Amino acid sequence: MNPPILYLIIPCYNEQEVLPITAPQFLAKICQLRDAGKISDDSRVLFVNDGSRDGTWDLIRQLAARDPHYLGICQSRNRGHQNAVLAGLMEAKDRCDITISIDCDGQDDINAMDAMVDAYLDGCEVVYGVRSKRDTDTFFKRFTAESFYKLLNAMGAEVVFNHADYRLMSARVLKEFANFKEVNLFLRGLVPLVGFKSTTVAYERHERIAGESHYPLSKMLSLAFDGITSLSVKPIRFITGFGVLVALVSFVGVIWAVVEAGLGATVSGWASMTSIICFVSGVQLICLGVIGEYVGKIYLETKHRPRYIISERTWDDTQKEDN
Ligand code: UDP
Ligand code: MG
Repeated sequence: MNPPILYLIIPCYNEQEVLPITAPQFLAKICQLRDAGKISDDSRVLFVNDGSRDGTWDLIRQLAARDPHYLGICQSRNRGHQNAVLAGLMEAKDRCDITISIDCDGQDDINAMDAMVDAYLDGCEVVYGVRSKRDTDTFFKRFTAESFYKLLNAMGAEVVFNHADYRLMSARVLKEFANFKEVNLFLRGLVPLVGFKSTTVAYERHERIAGESHYPLSKMLSLAFDGITSLSVKPIRFITGFGVLVALVSFVGVIWAVVEAGLGATVSGWASMTSIICFVSGVQLICLGVIGEYVGKIYLETKHRPRYIISERTWDDTQKEDN
């Protein structure tokens, strides 16, 4: 059997500082795996420029001109990390046997790719990179990130603990994955839904080599919220349960108030009345917000807008997009 063709999928957003350092590392890894006979020489490093505002796309073009192992596609505008990875995966799925998605900032240990490819050669179709420790993260980042996974699982979104988007996927899995047409993308929650034989490979997560993180707390929270609401309807069930509870308590309250009034023991309970009104209206607003979140998601899904638009490629290609 011929060795498989591997495509590395690397999303890049404003990464001109880090790309000159990490791009040669990715190429060296591909060459090393090829020399070991594990992958084909047709393997490629595919950069996805996610609408960067700096010189990232120029850099990618220069790399592609310098070595045929480098390829690049450019999104028409910034669509976020998840869509950039998806664009790369979909672009690669008909050209290769396996893909590995990895960030371009050098945080994920590229040496874990050896074990990932080995696992594929042993018959696994999906290999999740899992962080072994988070020593280099600040306490805050570690705490929030770990709470994130726990919350997701508690809410019914099945995700692999401490796995981000560093993973190997076979072309077979990708072809099935292409049928998951949702616009609200949360890749690490969707991939387990595709199934197939999978395993995990532990790796150490380093600090960013250069540049800045694009995932501040606000973006992390919104990713967590998107993850939960796009994969699970548990929050709506909680609301229903909570609504029933509040309704029961209110019902008891009404009986109590009627009985008190009947006994002539009515008091001018302005404070208690105000607090009940405030509490209940607060609860209602929260519930409406959560339901609105789902309605909004349905709204976006019904439009079937393209999830990514590729404006340029480093190679000449006129094939039609299917996204
Ligand atoms: N990224 C992207 N589009 C965005 C934000 C980030 O393609 O809108 C890429 C970025 O270039 C990097 C990866 O996604 O390769 C992860 O981003 P980052 O390192 O900023 O996140 P962190 O590792 O801090 O969570
Ligand atoms: Mg990073």
